[in-house]
Amino acid sequence: MSIPLIDLKAQRQRLGTRIDDAILRVVNHGGYIMGPEVRELEEQLANFCGARHCVSCANGTDALGLVLMAWDIKPGDAVFVPAFTFVSTAEVVAWVGATPVFVDVLEDTFNMDPVSLEAAIEVAKSQGLTPKAVIPVDLFGQPANYNAITSIARQHNIKILADAAQSFGATLDGARVGNFGDATTTSFFPAKPLGCYGDGGAIFTDNDTLAALLRSLRVHGQGTNKYDNVRIGINGRLDTVQASILLEKLTIFADEIEARDRVANRYSSSLANLARVPPLMQGATSVWAQYTIKVDDRTELQAACKAQGIPTAVYYPIPLSGQSGYKHYPCAPGGTPTSEQLSKEVVSLPMHPYMSDETQQLIIDCVVQTLTAG
Ligand SMILES: *Cc1c(COP(=O)(O)O)cnc(C)c1O
Repeated sequence: MSIPLIDLKAQRQRLGTRIDDAILRVVNHGGYIMGPEVRELEEQLANFCGARHCVSCANGTDALGLVLMAWDIKPGDAVFVPAFTFVSTAEVVAWVGATPVFVDVLEDTFNMDPVSLEAAIEVAKSQGLTPKAVIPVDLFGQPANYNAITSIARQHNIKILADAAQSFGATLDGARVGNFGDATTTSFFPAKPLGCYGDGGAIFTDNDTLAALLRSLRVHGQGTNKYDNVRIGINGRLDTVQASILLEKLTIFADEIEARDRVANRYSSSLANLARVPPLMQGATSVWAQYTIKVDDRTELQAACKAQGIPTAVYYPIPLSGQSGYKHYPCAPGGTPTSEQLSKEVVSLPMHPYMSDETQQLIIDCVVQTLTAG
């Protein structure tokens, strides 16, 4: 028996021939680039989260980069990013020639520490950089502390770009992700909570001017006359086939979010006495892109799980502030000790909406046995 970390086959089975039919419709109508499904998806995603505009694009990394391009972030500017995240969050800052400044995260939620952010802003200023934007990440599916981060950002007149690659569908104080900050980006990479069958991404904003700029930048910076390119852009469109797949998956997404929550709650109630389970912030819900616990001996737990056919994963084994391509960039004063500590302790368990009680019990039993023995 093999247990998947994320079971995409079960989802495909549930949808029957709907995805096959959707793909075939696109193959037959021939609008492969910016076909009708792309517009339809943008409308439905905006409705789903309550944002005014949705601009789809090729992937979650381009989504972040497009917003920085639209904001004209450039050399000499500082953009604040958490040290404990996927590489894209900092990579895009370097793309535009600006300086990523690493901020530490909170030990409990894994998300950006507002106190570290304030200190990092002072570091950037002291190095002659101009603070321009902060990119909080909603790690593992839970929104960052946007209330605290927004008040700091306002005080320093910097923009907020929410990296919601892992959290689309989550809520904070009753509002869906997509409404926090000046712009929000997400990813439809297959393993994300809402994933397609390849690469895909989207940007959400309430700002009409920003949305229009993003639509131009996404297609080589085209103007109203598409042969007159009025700015430097990229080829960053979402494929119509991927949009058609996402339209089908979106119809069951709300139900999947509930199922994810049930799986997460079951893990938490069974493991809380033995491991440090992930808490939710007051007022927050998570879409549980990963269910990540903290343990003292991760190696032993991973080996015990593997021996029983249970896959586990480590996100992330090295903080960005310690990675070869990034360690020369500035950090909050005192570095990013919490990110370093977390990178040694975290381990993610299988998580998806289609996990049976029996399978989850096997996983729980294995974790409980190993942690009790160790
Ligand atoms: C996945 C991810 C991205 C990048 O998305 P891609 O679609 O793979 O480019 C960015 N930020 C975070 C936090 C992610 O998890």
